[in-house]
Amino acid sequence: MSDSRRTPDDDPDFTPPFCANRLCRFHLEAGPEWRWKRNGIYTRRSDGRQFQLFLCLACRRGFSTRAFCTDYWLRRRDLPAKIADLVSNGTGLRQAARCLKVSHATIGRHVARLGRHCMLFHLERTRDLVIEEAVVVDGFESFEYSQYFPFHLNLAAGQCSWFLYDFTDSPLRRKGRMTAEQKTQREALETELGRPDPRAVEKGMTDLLKSLCRHVPADGRLELASDQHQAYPRAVRQVRLEQKTRAEILHEVTSSKEARTFQNPLFAANLTDLLLRHSHANHRRETIAFSKRRMEAISRASIFQVWRNFVKRRRENGDEQTAAMYLGLVEAPLAWRKVLGQRRFPDRAGLEEWRWTYYRHRVSTQVFADRQRFHELERAF
Ligand SMILES: [Zn+2]
Repeated sequence: MSDSRRTPDDDPDFTPPFCANRLCRFHLEAGPEWRWKRNGIYTRRSDGRQFQLFLCLACRRGFSTRAFCTDYWLRRRDLPAKIADLVSNGTGLRQAARCLKVSHATIGRHVARLGRHCMLFHLERTRDLVIEEAVVVDGFESFEYSQYFPFHLNLAAGQCSWFLYDFTDSPLRRKGRMTAEQKTQREALETELGRPDPRAVEKGMTDLLKSLCRHVPADGRLELASDQHQAYPRAVRQVRLEQKTRAEILHEVTSSKEARTFQNPLFAANLTDLLLRHSHANHRRETIAFSKRRMEAISRASIFQVWRNFVKRRRENGDEQTAAMYLGLVEAPLAWRKVLGQRRFPDRAGLEEWRWTYYRHRVSTQVFADRQRFHELERAF
């Protein structure tokens, strides 16, 4: 599809690659035996635009080209790209709402939707990627709701490419210096809500390493660099035990006291930390725009991942090269409208269990107990 025909409904020759109905047997794979036909034209009432309709001859469900567009359900179809741009450039959700003249709840829903799309987009674009460099893993610390609920985003960045390969999350217990009053408050909260799992970092890191190992040949090796966090070697051992492949994991540890310069083996992670804190308002120091829910921080991290790898150039003062171009995944930087060109379908993405948790917005924020916000998949499509 050329750039001027950036979405399926801009393309008069568009043919559906598979059935849009997720319950149809031709949704996951549609070979030559899949039969469908063109089934008339649908005129959108709001602007009189016309769209091709199709009928699947297997499940007898109809759908239009719109079913393959990211703005399928939307009235304000200009919003996703604008919101992605604003939140990637340090704007808080309420500020974005004021800029775009919508409610902040609308921005929240769009951020969740963008996060889901970005997760699927990134997975699809990196499906065949082979990791050929050392990977730096690190815990990026932030908090949800209040400083009593810190968490780590466990990040994995390429040592040379600075490509953010993947991330997971781990809730933490508040530590560090606290006043007597704060200690009492923490105790009260823990009595009411329970303590976070002390092995959460190990679990989050294990999921992250397993995901990285998918991109290493069976007899290859994954070179890891990290600080001295005690949970990391345990996660490495766990993955070595569970991996059915012969891929080797080498783990090099660098003291976090070493100067954070360009020469530091953990530079790629330090740079990602810095960019994430600088670009997303929810992670700024002393901010009032912090995430009220961890799930929201995860959605935003997915948006950040696509922005960092595919949209933003690697060096602010260098040429146009993005991290994805450095790895040979694409030939040019991608604009948000390109990233958002085509809708992605979760069932086709082969999501691991923890990633389904992200997709369905099932990461709960302890303090909200049974008042969580989950995302239910539409029954059909
Ligand atoms: Zn069908």
